[in-house]
Amino acid sequence: MKINLSEIPAEGRSYDFSHETGELNEALADLIQDRPYDVTFTLKPLGNAYEIKGHFATRKPEICSRCGWDLELPLQRNFNDILIEDEPEYRKSHSVHGNQSVDFLAQGPEVAYYQGDVFDAGTYVHEVIALAEPFYPSCGVEDCEHLADVEKKRAELEAEIQKSVVTEKGHPAFSVLEKLKVGPAGDESEH
Ligand SMILES: [Zn+2]
Repeated sequence: MKINLSEIPAEGRSYDFSHETGELNEALADLIQDRPYDVTFTLKPLGNAYEIKGHFATRKPEICSRCGWDLELPLQRNFNDILIEDEPEYRKSHSVHGNQSVDFLAQGPEVAYYQGDVFDAGTYVHEVIALAEPFYPSCGVEDCEHLADVEKKRAELEAEIQKSVVTEKGHPAFSVLEKLKVGPAGDESEH
């Protein structure tokens, strides 16, 4: 989905994309497959740059970082960035979403790039959604909703392991190890 920025009027132009309208389906397929999404934004000239302001909402397949359950994580975020023209050779050292070191502004605008009046909205929205993913997705609203079950299972498992370690003391391999310990190499008192 490419937008010709030279056609944007001074008062700006709004865009509204969804799975039904289809413009971003291909660009987002590797992130959300064929799940619904809603992306709206306004592009507005700002001197010799452009401002992009908008919002996306979708959901994404994830695995809960606590209990390992598959989940459909609802994801939504406002975005507000400045688009500046990029030189091709300069671009190599920059991500699509620009300089991440300006992240200290938290909710403030970041810089993204376009080339030759063409803004690749598909790549941009892909990056915005990818960056909005939590590092540790969780299956519940506040925290993992299976955590109590998982901790119970974990405790049971640990008890099993403890039990098997205790009974292993009678295993022949342990007596072999015991013998090795009292061998000449194990006697360090003479060194
Ligand atoms: Zn969970």
